[in-house]
Amino acid sequence: MTEDLEIRSYLGVPILLHDGKMFGTLCVLRKEKSSFTSDEINTIQNMAMFLGYLIDLEYVTIHDSLTSSYNLNFTTKYFDDYIKGKICKWAMIFIDLDNFQYVNDTLGHKMGDILLQKVSERMVTELEGDIVSARLGGDDFVLLLSGENDKTKVESFLEAILELFSKPFQVEGRDVSITPTMGVSLYPQDGLDAETLLKHADMALQEAKKSGQNHYSFFNQKLNEHISKKVQLTNDLPKALSNRELVLHYQPQFNMEKKMTGIEALLRWNHPELGMISPLDFIPIAEETGAIVEIGKWVMETACQNVKELHQHGQSDIKVAVNLSVKQFQQKKIADEILTILEKVKLHPCYLELEITENMAITNMKRTTFSLEQIKALGVRIAIDDFGTGYSSLSYLKRFPLDVLKLDRSFIHDITVDQKQFAIVKAVIDMAHALELKVVAEGIEEESQFHLLKQMGCDEVQGYLLGKPTPFIRLLK
Ligand code: C2E
Ligand code: MG
Ligand code: MG
Repeated sequence: MTEDLEIRSYLGVPILLHDGKMFGTLCVLRKEKSSFTSDEINTIQNMAMFLGYLIDLEYVTIHDSLTSSYNLNFTTKYFDDYIKGKICKWAMIFIDLDNFQYVNDTLGHKMGDILLQKVSERMVTELEGDIVSARLGGDDFVLLLSGENDKTKVESFLEAILELFSKPFQVEGRDVSITPTMGVSLYPQDGLDAETLLKHADMALQEAKKSGQNHYSFFNQKLNEHISKKVQLTNDLPKALSNRELVLHYQPQFNMEKKMTGIEALLRWNHPELGMISPLDFIPIAEETGAIVEIGKWVMETACQNVKELHQHGQSDIKVAVNLSVKQFQQKKIADEILTILEKVKLHPCYLELEITENMAITNMKRTTFSLEQIKALGVRIAIDDFGTGYSSLSYLKRFPLDVLKLDRSFIHDITVDQKQFAIVKAVIDMAHALELKVVAEGIEEESQFHLLKQMGCDEVQGYLLGKPTPFIRLLK
């Protein structure tokens, strides 16, 4: 060929990459038969070096330095460029390694890094199908499966990934086991660009995590709506208190003579656009953001003021029950805070009952016992809420200074039709009495349930049958 072009002189300089590997050769061809000067050779060598840098730079921008797979940059920009205008099918699989932090903490970061390399390597070499693998950072990987957007077919690919993780990884002579949790979005139905697909796959991943580890979940539009609502609530919540959008409703509690003995404060959020929002929807958010501490303080103070007002209106023996959240309960000075409120409102502590859930109680037994004893020493009553929905562990009933056991409504639901359920409720009531605890049954909706509970010796009831949660003003009438 050089003869055809009448090439008489030729200089080739290798283009080397950062790791010493040769990418190619930079060739300069000349028609004249003359040797290259040292200046010319220098310039060409510099050009080859510069090209090497550029190629390295291009590599670094789209690759992950630890695993040599692609990185986030590739997954977004390059993927978008690739799919532009093409009719194709893709599945984006977001993978998170379960308890990877545990590996780092117990075996050290170096072993953690090797494990990540091994995981990446195994996915690239052992998975069948047209895949592009990327590491987004930490223990997050993305697999782009090309040519597939049919859920059933993608599902068998996901099963293959789970299978891949069923064998341990060899890390410096040790067997290390790890499992993945995955979230999947499909192209084009779940998004038309990489950013949307990635966001949706991440949403699906969070959903999969809720149902335990070593699982996968597909994105769906409902999830999107649910998460958009959560984002809106998270953004709006910090202002809800100062905008006076939070309100307390009260549900009456009755003794077995159907005389009202107390009220439970139940929080609602009157959102300017979304209307009344259930505490089940926003309390977890308030817990996550920490807003619950301030909100909880407001609830307690308002509830104490309201019950004081009831006393002043002649309903003298009524007590008020307030639900405590985990974050509130974990505050070191929770007992001081309660005392300050009681003194400010001038309410006798015996009229305040604090409800904690089983799950809260067993999170940190030592701390819980300490806080509860301090609260109890103030003269405030303590109830265990939703008994029967959590661990239903009996040992803590003896250990904590409790006054009341609130039987969850799911426990009560079937007592009139299910003999075994009846026997369980009866046994719990007897056991609570033996521990000198008062029993309040929740969610009484039918007269027949009330009668059975009366027969069983239940002390008090709360439920739609005798009174739904209502605004405070209605209690004054
Ligand atoms: P909870 O403390 O167990 O409150 C009882 C829930 O059962 C209330 O739901 C009440 O409206 C509902 N309920 C009462 N009787 C019946 C009945 O007969 N049938 C049925 N189907 N339901 C009944 P709500 O108001 O939606 O509150 C849900 C949960 O939110 C509460 O459960 C409590 O755990 C939490 N919560 C409410 N207010 C607060 C608060 O101020 N702070 C904290 N930390 N949690 C709160
Ligand atoms: Mg409660
Ligand atoms: Mg309850």
